[in-house]
Amino acid sequence: MILPPATLGMLGGGQLGRYFVMAAHRLGYQVVVLDPDPASIAGAAADQQIVAAYDDAEALAELARRCVAVTCEFENVPAASLALLEKHLPVRPAASAVRVCQDRREEKAFLTRAGVPVAPNLTLLPNEPLPALPDTLFPAILKTAREGYDGKGQWTVTNGAELTAALATSGVPCVLEKRLPLEGEFALTLARSPSGAISALPLVQNWHSGGILDQTRSPANVPTLEAEAKRIAEHLIAALDYVGVLTVEFFLVDGKLLVNEMAPRPHNSGHPSIDNAGCCQFELQVRALCDLPLPKQAEVQPAILLNLLGDLWQHGTPDWAGALALPGVHLHLYGKGEARPGRKMGHVTVTGQDWQTVEAHARTLRALLG
Ligand code: ADP
Ligand code: MG
Repeated sequence: MILPPATLGMLGGGQLGRYFVMAAHRLGYQVVVLDPDPASIAGAAADQQIVAAYDDAEALAELARRCVAVTCEFENVPAASLALLEKHLPVRPAASAVRVCQDRREEKAFLTRAGVPVAPNLTLLPNEPLPALPDTLFPAILKTAREGYDGKGQWTVTNGAELTAALATSGVPCVLEKRLPLEGEFALTLARSPSGAISALPLVQNWHSGGILDQTRSPANVPTLEAEAKRIAEHLIAALDYVGVLTVEFFLVDGKLLVNEMAPRPHNSGHPSIDNAGCCQFELQVRALCDLPLPKQAEVQPAILLNLLGDLWQHGTPDWAGALALPGVHLHLYGKGEARPGRKMGHVTVTGQDWQTVEAHARTLRALLG
């Protein structure tokens, strides 16, 4: 067990890293963040920041000297860097697990081997002739194999000609996926400690707009789906021999759950847990990293999360005073400088005793923030 006041390492300086720092601080740990951006928002909250690229061997060695265990806030940290760190100290999740989650080709292959249903898909390489594709695959979504997030690196294509053009634009290996008629989107965030204990947050339901998470409802309140999602997620976490926090994104199609993708970290849709659960996803991340006991899943309060994208700032600063006057409103601003369209600037979680109240306040909030 790694006990406070040990120093923990975080690869990545965004909002997820920032919340990890806050959870670690609450428990009495110190945190050193590694991020190339000297003004990173997690670095600003941390005890120390190493400003360097994620593949800077010297910086990684320095990180290993300064802390006793390392985790990451996003899946695009090079797996080779995690493997390098693993020679010196515990890295959770392991390089082998992050490697699977950071490449859609590996991820799809892993999910298929694990016997988990996924959307019909195939790998395509730029500068290679297209294989013969069945018409039933269209309309489809072309997704870059690596580095995509918030719907970036994705193109909807309805025929072979559009596909050829999109693949040329991408210029990188891609996965082509059939666009499915979604009945709903769900996510399950769970943690596994080195000693094998598992703790899951409740299943949540998500609504996206333009590929970016717009709204989350926690808990989703669909017991049959929650049981199935847990079964699948626990199967995956075991198959990956995973330690840390993992989020599994699901599609509901024809009443059945398919796995969309996995995130080897806390997730935007897990943010309600900061305000409606006894132990939030970031405390789970700290506990799993340090092999502390994991809590039993407790009841959570009804909560609706609304993401605050940079677009909201178009006509000036949103009406925070009005928002904060509503009962049960938890405002989270990440402290990012520039409010660009589509950039996640913060979120609001509305909690309450019952759904009717939460929904009413969320509606008022939406109207207020535009
Ligand atoms: P990201 O890494 O950007 O989160 P996703 O693969 O999760 O990429 O896609 C973002 C969103 O786009 C999904 O949450 C979903 O709303 C939509 N989407 C992605 N793939 C499909 C699909 N095969 N069919 C229908 N909608 C999809
Ligand atoms: Mg996704």
